[in-house]
Amino acid sequence: MDTPQYQSYFLTNPYFSAVIKQNPIYQNQNYFKTMCGIVAYIGSKQAYPILIKGLQRLEYRGYDSAGVALLNGNLNVYKKKGKVSELLSFAHDKDVSATLGIGHTRWATHGKPDDINAHPHLSGNGRLVLVHNGIIENYATLKTALQRLGHEFISETDTEVLVHLIEELQERENLLLEEAVRIALSKVHGAYAIVVIDKEDPTKIVAARKQSPLVLGIGNGEFLLASDATPIVEHTKRVVYLNDGEIVTARRDGSFEIKTINNEIQAPFIQKLDLTIEALEKGGYDYFMLKEIHEQPQTIADAMRGRINATEGWVRLGGMEEHLNRIMNADRLIIVACGTSWHAGLVAEYLFEELARLPVEVEYASEFRYRNPVITEKDVVIAISQSGETADTLAAIELAKERGALIYGIVNAVGSSIARLTDGGSYIHAGPEIGVASTKAFTGQVTLLTLMALEIGYKRGKIRKSEFQRLLTELEQIPSKVEEVLKINKAVEYISSEIKDSNNALYLGRGYNFPVALEGALKLKEISYIHAEGYPAAEMKHGPIALIDENMPCVIVCTNQSAYEKIVSNIQEVKARKGVVIAIVTEGDTVIKNLADYTLEIPDTAEPLTPLLSVIPLQLLSYHIAVMRNCNVDQPRNLAKSVTVE
Ligand code: GLU
Repeated sequence: MDTPQYQSYFLTNPYFSAVIKQNPIYQNQNYFKTMCGIVAYIGSKQAYPILIKGLQRLEYRGYDSAGVALLNGNLNVYKKKGKVSELLSFAHDKDVSATLGIGHTRWATHGKPDDINAHPHLSGNGRLVLVHNGIIENYATLKTALQRLGHEFISETDTEVLVHLIEELQERENLLLEEAVRIALSKVHGAYAIVVIDKEDPTKIVAARKQSPLVLGIGNGEFLLASDATPIVEHTKRVVYLNDGEIVTARRDGSFEIKTINNEIQAPFIQKLDLTIEALEKGGYDYFMLKEIHEQPQTIADAMRGRINATEGWVRLGGMEEHLNRIMNADRLIIVACGTSWHAGLVAEYLFEELARLPVEVEYASEFRYRNPVITEKDVVIAISQSGETADTLAAIELAKERGALIYGIVNAVGSSIARLTDGGSYIHAGPEIGVASTKAFTGQVTLLTLMALEIGYKRGKIRKSEFQRLLTELEQIPSKVEEVLKINKAVEYISSEIKDSNNALYLGRGYNFPVALEGALKLKEISYIHAEGYPAAEMKHGPIALIDENMPCVIVCTNQSAYEKIVSNIQEVKARKGVVIAIVTEGDTVIKNLADYTLEIPDTAEPLTPLLSVIPLQLLSYHIAVMRNCNVDQPRNLAKSVTVE
C-alpha cells in the first residue's frame, strides 16, 4: 500500500494524476522491452573488476555504451559510448576502488548512443544512481511533471526520468530508498529491470524487475545482480530469478528481502545454478560463434540425452508427459517464433505434418500477435526461443493463452520468462549461446522438435514401428555425423575465399532443406553484411532467376532423396545463366559434382534429419566469409543476442 501522505501528494498534484489516469496505451501487456545488460555488486571484494567482467559477458545484449557507478564515500560514475573496452580505456587512470557498484551495457531506445545517454544515470541532487533495462513508456508525462517541480534533465533517456522520480519521492516524503523505489515503480508504465544505489547509504542495493530479466546471486557476505546468470556464476551458484513486480533489497550485512510492488513480502525461491565458467569462455576458438558451431555434436547429444533409446524403441520428453493427450489430439499446432527459431519452426512443420500427420502453422510472433488470429482451445501453440526472452514471442504466448490454447515452450535459457510462462516445455540444453548469430541453438531446437514429432507421430499411430526405430537409430547417429561434417571446415574456408567479395547470394533448398536455405541466407546477412536471400529452389523461376549472372553465388542444398531430380534441374537452370553453384550434397554424389562449381559433401541420413547436417556447412560458410571481410562475428552491427524489444 502507498503511504497516505504519498497518496495525497500524488492525487493533489495535477501532473502526476495525469500520469496515474488510466491511459489505455499503458494498460496493454505488450512487451516494450529492450535488451541491455545490468550487473551490480555489494560485498567485501573490489566491485569494478567484477562489474567489467560481468558487462563483457552481457555485451551480447547490447553494446551502444557502457558505464559503471562506484561508491567508496565518493560516487564515481564513468561511462562511455561504445563497447566495454572503451569504458576500460577511459577509466584506466581513474579511481575505481569500491566494494559497491553498478554497471550497464546499453542498447539504446530513448536517445542516441553517446556518453551522456549512457547509463548509469544520476538523480538531480547527485545522490541516487541507477541503471535500467527496458522502456518507461510514460516517461514524457512524468518528465513534464518533474520539470514543473524544478527537475532538470541532462540526457534524452526515459531512464533519467525514473531516477528523478525516485529522488523526488525520497526527498519529499523522507522515504527509505526501497520504499521510494516501490512507490515510483507503481507510477511508471512499461518494462524495466533496475538497480539503484544511494550515495548516503552504502549498506544496500535496491533492484526491481517487470518484464525484463534480473537475477540475484547470493554469495558469502556478498550479492550480485545481473540480467542473466553469466556474470554471477563464478562468484556463487545460489540464485533467485526475480519475478515480475518484485523489488529486492540486498544489504552489506548479508541479509536480503524481496517485496512486491504492492508491499507484500515474498519468500525467496533459491535455485542452484547449473552453469560452468568454462562454458562461458571461448575455449581456444577465435570467436564464440566458431566454438558454438563446433560444440554441436555435444549439444545435439545433450538435447537427446535421456530422451531417446533406439534399441528399446522409445522417445520420452518429460515436459510433454502431462500434456501428451492434448497435444496428440490437437486440431493443429501453431508454432510462434522469430528469426532463426522461426526457421527451426519451419523445419518442424515438415516434421510434424509428415511424421505425425498434424496440421501445422508457423507464425512470425510479431505478425501473429497483432492480427487477431483465430485460436481455439483445441490448438497447441509451440513457442521457440533461444533466450526465452524474445518480446514478440512472449506477447504471442500471452495472446494464445488468453484464448485457451495450450502453450509448449522450446527454450534454451533455463528460468527465462518464456520457460516460466508456458504450460509445459523442454529445454534444449545447449548451454549459453554467446555469438549473436545462432548456431547450436538452431540444431538444438530442431533436435527437440524432431523428438516431439517422432513421439507424437508414433503414439498417434502414424509411423510404423520399423520406421520409427530406423529414424531413432539415425537420430542417435547425428552427433557423430555432425563431427564428420565439421571436418570439411577447410574446404568451406576455401570456397569462402572465392566468394567473399560478392555483393549478393542466393540460397536454395527444397522440402526439409528449404528452411535450411533461409537459415543459411540469414547467417550470411547478419554477420558478413552480404545481401542474401533464401528461396524454395523451385520458386527461383518466379523471380530470383532474373538476378543470376556470373557474380551471383548460389548455395544449393541438394541432400534430398525425394526431389533429387528436381534439384538437379534447378542447378542446371542456374548454370545455364552462368551462376556460381556451391552445392551441399550427400557423400558419394557424383551427378551434382559434375555440374556444380564447388561441392561440399555431408554424410547420408534419413531425409527428415538432413537439416541437422546440411545447416552446418552454411554456418561455417558465413563464419569464414565474415572473418575474411573483417566483420565482428560475435557482435554484428545493429544486432543484439536476445531481442527483447518488439
Ligand atoms: N530505455 C533505456 C535507454 O534507452 C534503456 C535501454 C536499455 O534497455 O538498454 O537508455
